[in-house]
Amino acid sequence: METVEEKKLIVTKIKEGTVIDRIPPGKAMKVLHVLGINDNYPYTVALAMRVKSKKMQLKDIVKIKGKMLTPEESQKLSLIAPNAVVNIINDYKVEKKIVLEIPEQVSEIIRCLNPNCVTNNREPVSPIFYVVSKEPLILRCKYCDRLLEGQNLSEQL
Ligand code: ZN
Repeated sequence: METVEEKKLIVTKIKEGTVIDRIPPGKAMKVLHVLGINDNYPYTVALAMRVKSKKMQLKDIVKIKGKMLTPEESQKLSLIAPNAVVNIINDYKVEKKIVLEIPEQVSEIIRCLNPNCVTNNREPVSPIFYVVSKEPLILRCKYCDRLLEGQNLSEQL
Protein backbone atom coordinates (compact mmCIF):
# COMPACT_ATOMS: atom_id res chain seq x y z
CA MET A 1 0.00 0.00 0.00
CA GLU A 2 1.10 3.52 -0.73
CA THR A 3 1.39 5.65 2.36
CA VAL A 4 -0.16 9.10 2.54
CA GLU A 5 3.35 10.59 2.45
CA GLU A 6 4.18 8.74 -0.74
CA LYS A 7 0.96 9.90 -2.36
CA LYS A 8 1.68 13.49 -1.38
CA LEU A 9 5.12 13.41 -2.93
CA ILE A 10 3.72 12.12 -6.18
CA VAL A 11 0.88 14.59 -6.52
CA THR A 12 2.75 17.72 -5.42
CA LYS A 13 1.91 20.25 -8.09
CA ILE A 14 4.28 22.60 -9.78
CA LYS A 15 3.24 25.91 -11.30
CA GLU A 16 5.31 25.65 -14.44
CA GLY A 17 7.88 23.18 -15.61
CA THR A 18 8.06 19.59 -16.73
CA VAL A 19 6.80 16.35 -15.26
CA ILE A 20 8.29 13.20 -16.74
CA ASP A 21 6.19 10.18 -16.00
CA ARG A 22 6.52 6.47 -16.78
CA ILE A 23 10.29 6.46 -16.60
CA PRO A 24 11.61 2.89 -16.41
CA PRO A 25 12.20 2.05 -12.73
CA GLY A 26 15.60 3.16 -11.48
CA LYS A 27 16.33 5.55 -14.36
CA ALA A 28 15.18 8.80 -12.70
CA MET A 29 18.69 9.84 -11.61
CA LYS A 30 19.98 9.31 -15.12
CA VAL A 31 17.12 11.41 -16.45
CA LEU A 32 18.07 14.29 -14.15
CA HIS A 33 21.70 13.92 -15.20
CA VAL A 34 20.80 14.10 -18.90
CA LEU A 35 18.74 17.22 -18.26
CA GLY A 36 21.65 18.87 -16.47
CA ILE A 37 19.83 19.05 -13.16
CA ASN A 38 22.44 19.06 -10.39
CA ASP A 39 22.96 20.41 -6.85
CA ASN A 40 22.90 23.95 -8.15
CA TYR A 41 19.50 23.79 -9.82
CA PRO A 42 17.61 26.70 -8.24
CA TYR A 43 14.03 25.38 -8.31
CA THR A 44 12.02 22.53 -6.85
CA VAL A 45 12.80 19.09 -8.15
CA ALA A 46 10.80 16.08 -6.99
CA LEU A 47 11.89 12.57 -7.75
CA ALA A 48 10.03 9.39 -7.02
CA MET A 49 11.55 6.01 -7.75
CA ARG A 50 9.79 2.67 -8.02
CA VAL A 51 6.29 3.96 -7.63
CA LYS A 52 3.48 1.50 -8.26
CA SER A 53 1.99 1.90 -11.71
CA LYS A 54 -0.96 0.20 -13.36
CA LYS A 55 0.70 0.21 -16.77
CA MET A 56 4.26 -0.67 -15.85
CA GLN A 57 4.04 -2.20 -12.34
CA LEU A 58 6.84 0.12 -11.22
CA LYS A 59 7.95 3.44 -12.61
CA ASP A 60 9.95 6.53 -11.77
CA ILE A 61 8.66 10.10 -11.95
CA VAL A 62 10.50 13.40 -11.94
CA LYS A 63 9.01 16.86 -11.60
CA ILE A 64 11.18 19.81 -12.40
CA LYS A 65 9.97 23.30 -11.76
CA GLY A 66 11.01 25.94 -14.27
CA LYS A 67 12.39 23.47 -16.80
CA MET A 68 11.46 23.10 -20.46
CA LEU A 69 13.18 20.44 -22.52
CA THR A 70 15.24 21.34 -25.55
CA PRO A 71 14.94 19.12 -28.66
CA GLU A 72 18.39 17.66 -27.86
CA GLU A 73 17.32 16.82 -24.32
CA SER A 74 14.12 15.19 -25.58
CA GLN A 75 16.15 13.12 -28.02
CA LYS A 76 18.57 11.94 -25.32
CA LEU A 77 15.69 11.24 -22.99
CA SER A 78 13.96 9.08 -25.58
CA LEU A 79 17.06 6.87 -25.68
CA ILE A 80 17.23 6.28 -21.93
CA ALA A 81 13.53 6.38 -21.11
CA PRO A 82 11.65 5.24 -24.22
CA ASN A 83 7.88 5.53 -23.82
CA ALA A 84 8.18 7.97 -20.93
CA VAL A 85 5.54 10.70 -20.93
CA VAL A 86 6.63 14.32 -20.84
CA ASN A 87 4.02 16.68 -19.42
CA ILE A 88 4.56 20.37 -19.93
CA ILE A 89 2.99 22.23 -17.05
CA ASN A 90 1.79 25.79 -17.23
CA ASP A 91 -0.17 27.47 -14.45
CA TYR A 92 -0.55 24.10 -12.65
CA LYS A 93 -2.20 22.50 -15.68
CA VAL A 94 -0.89 20.01 -18.22
CA GLU A 95 -0.53 22.12 -21.32
CA LYS A 96 1.00 19.46 -23.51
CA LYS A 97 1.68 15.74 -23.21
CA ILE A 98 4.36 14.08 -25.31
CA VAL A 99 4.99 10.35 -25.39
CA LEU A 100 8.69 9.80 -26.08
CA GLU A 101 9.69 7.38 -28.77
CA ILE A 102 13.10 6.15 -29.89
CA PRO A 103 13.66 7.90 -33.22
CA GLU A 104 14.79 6.12 -36.41
CA GLN A 105 17.79 8.39 -36.54
CA VAL A 106 19.85 10.15 -33.87
CA SER A 107 21.84 13.23 -34.74
CA GLU A 108 24.30 15.57 -33.02
CA ILE A 109 24.04 14.29 -29.46
CA ILE A 110 26.32 11.26 -29.77
CA ARG A 111 29.83 10.86 -31.16
CA CYS A 112 31.21 8.05 -33.27
CA LEU A 113 33.95 6.02 -31.56
CA ASN A 114 35.86 5.40 -34.76
CA PRO A 115 38.74 7.93 -34.70
CA ASN A 116 38.99 7.75 -38.50
CA CYS A 117 35.31 8.46 -39.04
CA VAL A 118 34.59 11.57 -41.11
CA THR A 119 32.58 12.90 -38.13
CA ASN A 120 35.82 13.01 -36.11
CA ASN A 121 37.91 14.77 -38.74
CA ARG A 122 39.39 18.20 -38.39
CA GLU A 123 36.42 19.70 -40.15
CA PRO A 124 33.86 17.38 -38.76
CA VAL A 125 30.61 16.34 -40.34
CA SER A 126 27.79 16.19 -37.78
CA PRO A 127 27.38 12.66 -36.49
CA ILE A 128 24.26 10.80 -37.54
CA PHE A 129 23.33 7.33 -36.34
CA TYR A 130 20.66 4.92 -37.47
CA VAL A 131 18.82 3.01 -34.78
CA VAL A 132 19.30 -0.64 -35.77
CA SER A 133 17.82 -2.14 -32.60
CA LYS A 134 15.66 -0.59 -29.89
CA GLU A 135 15.85 -3.38 -27.33
CA PRO A 136 18.72 -3.51 -26.59
CA LEU A 137 19.54 -0.13 -28.05
CA ILE A 138 22.10 -0.36 -30.87
CA LEU A 139 23.08 2.53 -33.15
CA ARG A 140 25.04 2.41 -36.41
CA CYS A 141 27.08 5.33 -37.72
CA LYS A 142 25.75 6.58 -41.05
CA TYR A 143 29.27 7.30 -42.33
CA CYS A 144 31.49 4.43 -41.19
CA ASP A 145 28.99 1.75 -40.08
CA ARG A 146 30.63 1.47 -36.63
CA LEU A 147 28.10 0.12 -34.11
CA LEU A 148 27.53 1.82 -30.79
CA GLU A 149 25.85 -0.07 -27.97
CA GLY A 150 25.88 -1.03 -24.30
CA GLN A 151 28.35 0.73 -22.02
CA ASN A 152 29.92 2.79 -24.83
CA LEU A 153 26.53 4.21 -25.63
CA SER A 154 25.26 4.79 -22.11
CA GLU A 155 28.45 6.65 -21.21
CA GLN A 156 27.55 9.24 -23.82
CA LEU A 157 24.02 9.81 -22.58
ZN1 ZN B 1 31.45 6.82 -37.75
